[in-house]
Amino acid sequence: MAVNLLDFDAESLTAWFAQQGEKPFRARQVLRWIHRFGEGDFNAMSDLARSLREKLLTIAAVSPAPTLSDKLSADGTRKFLFDVGNGNAVETVFIPEEGRGTLCVSSQAGCALDCTFCSTGRQGFNRNLTTAEIIGQLWQANRLLSINAPGERVISNVVMMGMGEPLANFDHLIPALRLMLDDNAYGLSRRRVTVSTSGIVPAIDRLAEACPVALAVSLHAPTDGLRDRLVPINRKYPLAELMAACQRYLVHAPRDFITFEYVMLDGVNDSDADARALLHLVRDVPCKFNLIPFNPFPASGFRCSTAERMRRFAAILLEGGLVVTTRKTRGDDIDAACGQLAGQVLDRSRRVQRAATIPVRNFSMSGTAA
Ligand code: SF4
Repeated sequence: MAVNLLDFDAESLTAWFAQQGEKPFRARQVLRWIHRFGEGDFNAMSDLARSLREKLLTIAAVSPAPTLSDKLSADGTRKFLFDVGNGNAVETVFIPEEGRGTLCVSSQAGCALDCTFCSTGRQGFNRNLTTAEIIGQLWQANRLLSINAPGERVISNVVMMGMGEPLANFDHLIPALRLMLDDNAYGLSRRRVTVSTSGIVPAIDRLAEACPVALAVSLHAPTDGLRDRLVPINRKYPLAELMAACQRYLVHAPRDFITFEYVMLDGVNDSDADARALLHLVRDVPCKFNLIPFNPFPASGFRCSTAERMRRFAAILLEGGLVVTTRKTRGDDIDAACGQLAGQVLDRSRRVQRAATIPVRNFSMSGTAA
């Protein structure tokens, strides 16, 4: 079977070329063709010796996951669906903004962490994506986005915020991150590549050593009691450990702050007291807060906080000295908004039973959960 060269970062591609009796500079040439120029056809790699091209045609391939769909939202957001086999698909979302274009990349088919408010968690865990399937999303998106402007780089930022917990797929994630940063591949700066985690503390430390890029943490609750229910991994790595890991990470991070993501759930985590508890929680962690309006999905059991509640919540954080942004909802006409990546899925998780135990202050759960 042909070896998929999308699985290799520079170091492993060089090692593979050495096994084939080829020099390191050949690996660099091929890396550049594949990732910098988006070329998947060895015959088109014009500065390779003909004998090498012929050899590669028989033993290697550039094989991204096939594209199942490509939808454009009215606001310019574009959602790609890639087929990763056995009935599994992953989504990749491109978000164009003034002066930058961000690609939101998936790391797993499904997710085992089962956060209560997340549609991906609802479909349960299928499998880790390979490095080829992770970097292949960027490779494919680059090609599809620049069809009308060949050579133009429209993706300036990558966020590992799609389906899955990236740090639970560490060994396949790291080579993909290294390719994103490699000048012979995508050449993105560490500040423009963000890994978003729900808080797997040992893996945060490993990331700091292996490939320190910008870090976002899905916080979503100011206390262990509530976070245990919304983000179950908190039972294993509670908030005090998570805050300490964030402080350690900042020693290596390319930015001097951690981004905390906080989904706004009506009556669940959005009170004045919650905002004040957050200020206390992060008092020793230089950070920014990104408040995310919850995007309801079928039978989620949650509602988004009101605009007035979000404004008040943000105001308390701002008065407390934090930098706060409220994410604009993008692409919701194509289900590409945050928390909608899984689309409509079967609930294979245990969350329905657990949802009944979540304290809800001002609305009834009855009739909302399946
Ligand atoms: S929020 Fe992230 S970690 Fe939690 S279930 Fe969804 S994809 Fe997994």
